[in-house]
Amino acid sequence: MITIADNINHFRKTVPPEVTLIAVSKRQNNEAIREAYEAGQLDFGENYVQELVSKQPLLPTEIRWHFIGHLQSNKVKYIAPFVYMIHSVDSISLMREINKQAQKHGRQIPVLLEIFIATEESKSGMSMADLDAFFAEYRAEEFPGVSICGVMGMASYTENQGMVRNEFKKLKQIFDHLKNNFFTDNENFAQISMGMSSDYGIAIDEGSNMVRIGTAIFGQRL
Ligand SMILES: *Cc1c(COP(=O)(O)O)cnc(C)c1O
Repeated sequence: MITIADNINHFRKTVPPEVTLIAVSKRQNNEAIREAYEAGQLDFGENYVQELVSKQPLLPTEIRWHFIGHLQSNKVKYIAPFVYMIHSVDSISLMREINKQAQKHGRQIPVLLEIFIATEESKSGMSMADLDAFFAEYRAEEFPGVSICGVMGMASYTENQGMVRNEFKKLKQIFDHLKNNFFTDNENFAQISMGMSSDYGIAIDEGSNMVRIGTAIFGQRL
């Protein structure tokens, strides 16, 4: 039988060293997370605030919790004390709330801007128009509690690999555009979070340096 530890070891060997492997543990139990942790995995991704907040105190404090699901402003306060990175910032108002809650805890929280790149069905994230509006308002000095570290996106759920590849190319182009226009001298702006169990190979080809893998590590979710 293939264990979670086997899968972690497999991904360690498969994913290039400069790519961060995030084990997406939503709807997986704490034993499963612990098994991955004991195999050396430190970065974990969760989608739901309530689930994350109930798991976090029962698991090793060394774990780096990435929040990758849709985040409502009124829930930021629950994860602000400990979250390692938020991948799903999709508005300036959410940024303001993260900034406020981070400062309450004397923290600066790393975040990624979630960009809408899918063509097939609607997925969350900012459109180009939303991004323009965001940067029309954004002034780094007003957000000492937040550090924008890059972008995140999800490709269409499709068998069409060419479509998936084009969507990842688009996210890489948007990253380059933002880097050149707003973050030239900011070395923190360096992360491209793209790729899941079904498409991480294509994502890495197209410049991903953070992959978010769930079922290929843990098996089917509950
Ligand atoms: C669930 C989820 C993943 C992992 O998906 P798998 O197909 O299980 O690898 C990655 N990213 C996000 C945003 C998710 O919600």
